[in-house]
Amino acid sequence: MKTTRTIIHLDLDAFFCAVEEKRDPALRGMAFAVGGDPAQRGVVASCSYAARQFGVRSAMPMARARERCPRLGVVVPNHAAYKKASRQVMAILHDLTSQVEQLSIDEAFLDISEIEVSPREVGQTLQGQIREKLNLPCSLGIASNKLVAKIATDVGKVSAPAGTPPQALTVIPPGQEAAFLAPLPTDMLWGVGPKTRERLHQLGMRTIGDVANYPVIELTQALGKHGYDLSKRAKGIDKRPIVTERKVKSISNEITFSRDKGRKGEILQELRRLSGKVARRLQAKGLRGRTVQIKVRWADFSTLTRQNTLPKGVDDYDTISQQAEALLEQVWTSEQAVRLVGVGVSNLDQEARQLNLWDPQVKKDRQLQETLAKLRHKFGEDIISEGMSNRD
Ligand SMILES: [Mg+2]
Repeated sequence: MKTTRTIIHLDLDAFFCAVEEKRDPALRGMAFAVGGDPAQRGVVASCSYAARQFGVRSAMPMARARERCPRLGVVVPNHAAYKKASRQVMAILHDLTSQVEQLSIDEAFLDISEIEVSPREVGQTLQGQIREKLNLPCSLGIASNKLVAKIATDVGKVSAPAGTPPQALTVIPPGQEAAFLAPLPTDMLWGVGPKTRERLHQLGMRTIGDVANYPVIELTQALGKHGYDLSKRAKGIDKRPIVTERKVKSISNEITFSRDKGRKGEILQELRRLSGKVARRLQAKGLRGRTVQIKVRWADFSTLTRQNTLPKGVDDYDTISQQAEALLEQVWTSEQAVRLVGVGVSNLDQEARQLNLWDPQVKKDRQLQETLAKLRHKFGEDIISEGMSNRD
């Protein structure tokens, strides 16, 4: 195993504007901004590189941008188009490696440690693919960790010639991290805003190198834990892994019968079994969902889904199976046999659950539910429901 990682930070150049130029090629090379109406106190969401030469910047009020660049074209945002383009870019990244962490609509980290090609070549290939397939410019920073890769992108962008998309590719070889960061101003470091920059300045530090050379004990005394973290970052140290978890949208299980089933009792039994599976998968992933759904395909291949949204997220067998049964009641007809049934839970919300985990009662309930889920898996649903009714 390699001991050094190779991380790419990718950032699309003036992304919204680049998508607009694809939609309307007449915009190419023009000074324009995507954002709100200047008369309505709109703000610049993204501005073309030609506009930047006039001093237009993102987050600036559109009226001020117009003052700086009177001929500035203003384009109303087309968020659906940006989302679509973003998905296309992320798909190209996922074709390269599964180790992709999307940071925002136009930014991502990739871990390419396992790829046996020089990092620069990988970067050039990616840039080329995104340009050729999608007609979008991007800048890349490559380094042994996220922090340095991100700063490499930023440095590459500002060093590129003005007026056109930078399409920068900046590679910091392993071992060069601290030397690369040393001459840069402290506020290029992650975690240094105007307040911290001022404080560092008061202590005599203007560059990241100054921070790296400052005694860590004194920096920690001055800024607390933040000072300790900054000292590490200033030396180019960052151990954060790539977080690849893609948001799961729903958890569902279905079964196609080898022979169509016409008895309601049989279908209910299948729904319960599937509910148990879905509950176990939700619990294993620490997820809860508010919407319970069933799917029924009849013998003539017509398919219907019915769903019910609950006030609170659920992950337990009892609720999911009760909901699934109630939904079946709504659609049941004895006129046709059933080919397929499915149970699903969507509207997932992971964060609420993670917070709740700290609550001791929730934790106890969880353990009970997990034990029950295991028992059900082993002995079937019915035995446990009977056992449960005697529990008090
Ligand atoms: Mg960008």
